[in-house]
Amino acid sequence: MGCGSSSTRRIMMSEPDCLFCKIIAGEIPSEKVYEDETTYAFKDISPKAAVHVLVVPKHHYANVAELAGADAAQLAHMVQVAQSLADDAFHGAYRLIFNTGRDAGQSVFHVHAHVLTGETLDE
Ligand code: 5GP
Repeated sequence: MGCGSSSTRRIMMSEPDCLFCKIIAGEIPSEKVYEDETTYAFKDISPKAAVHVLVVPKHHYANVAELAGADAAQLAHMVQVAQSLADDAFHGAYRLIFNTGRDAGQSVFHVHAHVLTGETLDE
């Protein structure tokens, strides 16, 4: 995928008890679909669409608001990665979801974009 990172170089911070930090580090297996210096994307273990990928920054941020405040370029890059995945999977059509907060359905507190694509989605 031709999708280089625009994020500035920085030291990647991980959290010892974070599931997605462990996936990024390869300590827990995942089905990788994309990786670059700053960003990792893998198939959701419980897919809600024909293609359901999670796009995550390698640096640990708890949620999308924290990420946006700290590194807007990384957030923009995650959208570019999602777009590129959907270009390949379903002519560029996709749904992008950031569940933010437990009451909104966030269960893993390492920011992740749900990319739903690969089929026509219900409204
Ligand atoms: P959230 O509920 O935080 O918005 O999304 C977390 C997502 O992570 C869920 O869709 C869930 O299916 C997925 N997930 C949870 N544990 C694992 C895992 O070990 N591997 C993978 N690939 N996905 C996971």
